[in-house]
Amino acid sequence: MKFTVLTLFPEMMKTIFNESIIGRAVKNGILKINVVNIRDYTTDKHRRVDDSPYGGGFGMVMSCQPIVDCYRDVTQGRNVKTLYMSPQGRVFDENAAVELSKEDEIVILCGHYEGVDERALEILNVEEYSVGNYVLTGGELPAAIIVDAVGRLVDGVLPDPSCYEDESIFSGLLEYPQYTRPEEYEGKRVPEILLSGHHANIQKWKKEQSIERTKQKRPDLFEKWLETNEK
Ligand code: SAM
Repeated sequence: MKFTVLTLFPEMMKTIFNESIIGRAVKNGILKINVVNIRDYTTDKHRRVDDSPYGGGFGMVMSCQPIVDCYRDVTQGRNVKTLYMSPQGRVFDENAAVELSKEDEIVILCGHYEGVDERALEILNVEEYSVGNYVLTGGELPAAIIVDAVGRLVDGVLPDPSCYEDESIFSGLLEYPQYTRPEEYEGKRVPEILLSGHHANIQKWKKEQSIERTKQKRPDLFEKWLETNEK
């Protein structure tokens, strides 16, 4: 799967995409992540990419020309799913991550300052996504969140689909508590059931713990889960 991130701050993105599981998937060729500097496309002699807003108001607005030229160069006329990171968008969640993971290619436009000239968003025919009901200084962190959450669902990025299927949210429940060595730490023991080697009982315990945790920590998720499952 290919992601292309259009940004004014490419260096912010590169470190994130070079590390850990996503970095390994890039090295193995399972994911391709192309970070493109919008400023490279400005035709302004002072390399400006923004201007003050019509009608007045604080801050600067990212101009159409560098964004549209950058986008056209990247997509070369192909019809590509294009996302704009925006506090005004659909709030990104695991369902959206699953939907987006079915695409072969995604372009993500990161806004900055006061945002992007509306006409550029129309020309790029963007879908707007928010990472939550708060405002950040730029779309770079949201774009990294989307690449990470979507990328890890792509076949081959994690060792097995069960790695994400068992995890919190994906199944509709939160994950059971996890433990690793040693068996006892500062007087706290790992639950005996996990040391028993009895696979069926362990699975039953994990499911019960997941249900109980979701009920306590996320009653909203629990109510939703109950609609299609029996406790
Ligand atoms: N003036 C804009 C508004 O009120 O809707 C906010 C601009 S914000 C300071 C600058 C950029 O950060 C946005 O263009 C967007 O790309 C990004 N951004 C900020 N908060 C975000 C969020 N919650 N989700 C996704 N992107 C966000």
